[in-house]
Amino acid sequence: MAVHVRFAPSPTGALHIGSVRTILYNYLLAQKEGGRFILRIEDTDQKRLVASAESYLLESLRWLGIVPDEGPEQGGTFGPYKQSERLGIYQTYIQHLLESGHAYYAFDTPGEIEAMRERLKAAKVANPQYNAISREWMRNGLTMPAEQVAEWIAAGKPYVIRLKMAHKGLIRFQDGVRGWVKVDASVLDDKVLMKSDGWPTYHFASIVDDHLMQITHVIRGEEWLPSTPIHIWLYGCLGWADEIPQFIHLPLLLSPNGSGKLSKRHADQYGFPAFPIAWNRPDLRVEKAFREAGYLPEALLNFLALLGWNPGTNQEVFTKEALIEAFSLERLGKSGVKFDIAKAKWFNQQHIKIQGPTAWASYFSTEAIKENITCRQEDAIAICNLVKDRITFPKDFWQEGRFFFFDPVDYDAELIKQRWNTQTKEGMVAFSKSIATLIEWKGETIKPLVQAVPAIMPLLRMALTGRKAGPDLIDIIVLLGRDKTHKRIDAFLEKLG
Ligand code: GLU
Repeated sequence: MAVHVRFAPSPTGALHIGSVRTILYNYLLAQKEGGRFILRIEDTDQKRLVASAESYLLESLRWLGIVPDEGPEQGGTFGPYKQSERLGIYQTYIQHLLESGHAYYAFDTPGEIEAMRERLKAAKVANPQYNAISREWMRNGLTMPAEQVAEWIAAGKPYVIRLKMAHKGLIRFQDGVRGWVKVDASVLDDKVLMKSDGWPTYHFASIVDDHLMQITHVIRGEEWLPSTPIHIWLYGCLGWADEIPQFIHLPLLLSPNGSGKLSKRHADQYGFPAFPIAWNRPDLRVEKAFREAGYLPEALLNFLALLGWNPGTNQEVFTKEALIEAFSLERLGKSGVKFDIAKAKWFNQQHIKIQGPTAWASYFSTEAIKENITCRQEDAIAICNLVKDRITFPKDFWQEGRFFFFDPVDYDAELIKQRWNTQTKEGMVAFSKSIATLIEWKGETIKPLVQAVPAIMPLLRMALTGRKAGPDLIDIIVLLGRDKTHKRIDAFLEKLG
């Protein structure tokens, strides 16, 4: 059977970085197995919908370079891919459940349900809920005569449709990460499947859709583990017990210090982005996003891939293609993983290097233009190549390379105090004279002249770049060229007298 996976977000807000990892693992499995990755929008909770959440999600996926094989934009054989457009389908299946006695109408008012809970609480029931015991004394299709149920429905009395959960017995399933999970049915409640507004709930709609979309693997966050026994039970009620997908519940992403689930609050506290891309709705501004901070999508995916999965080797840097090649469900981890933003930065550095200086040259030139500098392609490549080891984010290219175009305006006072003396002054002058005689301006001829006066190196760097640190000094001199080098040394000597 062809692998079918799905990501099934409720469009209620920005995409948590943990969800991006879920998306990635689904995508990697589908790609690896030549299967289909389906995007399904679970928009049945109309009260919680946020208008632009869906377009935000689609844009996030585009930026990440993860294009679903089927979804609201792509279409496909299992459409429509938004649950709000599938309401007729859920009606069909809820009728099956009502007719087979696996679901029932319930007319209880919120007040009556509250009173039931209070009664159970007073009787010291640990977990007061609408279940196989309490339903016996509530107002529902199990306790009322069929004619009265029909009358009340005809009269327009509000109702929900509930799942008739087993009274007792073990519900078991084998989770891809956790192994066998067993839950006693007596702790589960009679979940609402259809709300009084005629819309299905998450539990019901997602099971119907997973089945109809022939989902083979449900890869999702650990927070859904407690719901899975209900889902297993529902599959049985619908007559699909032989076609239950493989469930894979991913361990949580933890805060940087390991104290609990990674949250937006941690991101704020530790000062790192919390969402893949920024959200352009003024009332829901998400300032700190990975795209806007300068993370490359491939680096972010590489970083997330290794937070909960390991390749079984020491390899860390993976392109997307390499991840697809290496991915396997067997190597998913069992325990929560700490979110370490320093590691994300390291991956960004690696992926910037992989792309190479030629790829960054036009970016560099575009940044240069913002400061009215026109930069030749070959110079841009050479500068990007020179500074590439010092780059964490693309913006650093221009920051690290802009000194080639702007003479230093002042020099570090501390360094001057430490290093500037008669001897270094003479060294600078001598160096300036020696390079003036050079016929060929290249690394091999410049290097011995710099090495002849080692004491001046920090001052020379300061004179040429205005900085204390940077790429290789000889390379800088070569690239800066004869005129600028002389001009900057002269300016330095003049200023310090
Ligand atoms: N709509 C659910 C969510 O918001 C989907 C959970 C699942 O993957 O089953 O995450």
